[in-house]
Amino acid sequence: HVETTLHCTTQQDVKHLLKPRKRFSHKGLYGHALLLCGGYGKMGAAMLAAHACLRSGVGLLTIQAPPVGYSVLQTAVPEAMTLVDKNRKHLSELPQGIEKYDVIGTGPGLGTEKVTQTAIGQLLATSTQPLVIDADAINIIASSDRLKSQIPKHSVIFTPHPKEFERLVGKAQNDYDRLERMKEFCHKHACYITLKGNNTAIGTPDGNIYFNTTGNSGMATGGTGDVLTGIITAFVAQNYSLEEACRLGVYVHGLAGDLALNTVGEISMIASDVIDHLPKALLSLQ
Ligand code: AMP
Ligand code: MG
Repeated sequence: HVETTLHCTTQQDVKHLLKPRKRFSHKGLYGHALLLCGGYGKMGAAMLAAHACLRSGVGLLTIQAPPVGYSVLQTAVPEAMTLVDKNRKHLSELPQGIEKYDVIGTGPGLGTEKVTQTAIGQLLATSTQPLVIDADAINIIASSDRLKSQIPKHSVIFTPHPKEFERLVGKAQNDYDRLERMKEFCHKHACYITLKGNNTAIGTPDGNIYFNTTGNSGMATGGTGDVLTGIITAFVAQNYSLEEACRLGVYVHGLAGDLALNTVGEISMIASDVIDHLPKALLSLQ
C-alpha cells in the first residue's frame, strides 16, 4: 500500500520552481532533446511538439522523421535539426548515437505500424535517458504485455488522455478508482503519469498526486496534447526533476491556453494558439 498525498500546483509553486537563465550560459546548458514524432499524414503533431519544445527553453532540438516529413519539418521548424528514418512513412529505427540526447519525447503522430512497435520496443530496452511517452507510443506499449514489462525503471513520464490512460492502466469504476490505479501503476513502474483533462492529475512513484489549476475547454481540440509533450520534454532537457517538469509543463501549458482566451476565445482556439501564448505565459512567471 502506498500513502497518497494530494496537492494543487499554484502560481506560487511554479514561480518558485522556474529557474532564471544564467547570464553567461550557452545552449549546451539547456539540454539537447530528441523528438521521435510524426508519420505519414501526421507530421503536424511533430511540428506542434517541436515548436512547443523550442518555446519552452530547450538548448538544442533534433527530430527524427520519416522521409515524407523531412522537408515539412525543415521548413516549418528551422531551429530544429532533422534526422531521416530509413522507412519512407513511419518511425522504424532509433538514431545512431542516441546516448547523447538528454531526453527523448515520443508518441505524437507516430501511428502504430509494426515497424514503429519494434522501434518503441528498442527504445524501452536500450534508452538510458529520461523518456516522455505520449499518444501512439502509449498505445503501442499498452497493447503489449511484453512492452509493459520493459518500461525502464528510470525516469519515464507518460502523458495519456483518458482513453490512452484506460488502455495503459486499465478501466476504472469511477474517478477515485482511476486515481488509485494511477498511483499503483506509478509505484509499480517507478514512473510519472500526467492524466490529462480538466484539472490534469500528475502521479509520482512515491504516491503524490498533483492537480493542475490552469487550462480551459478551448484546449479540447486536436494537437494540444502534442504541445504538452514538447513542453515537458523541454523542461526535462533543462535538468528539472521529472516531478518538476510535469508540474511546470502542465501548469504553463494550461496558462498559455488561458492567455489565448483573450485573443481567440474558447471556440476558435487551436493548438498553435497555445504555442503562440507560451512566451507570455512564461514571462508572467518570471
Ligand atoms: P490530447 O487529448 O492528447 O490532445 O490532450 C489534450 C490537452 O488539452 C491536454 O493537455 C488536456 O489537459 C487539455 N484539455 C482538453 N480538454 C480540456 C478541458 N476541458 N479543460 C482543460 N484542459 C483540457
Ligand atoms: Mg494526444
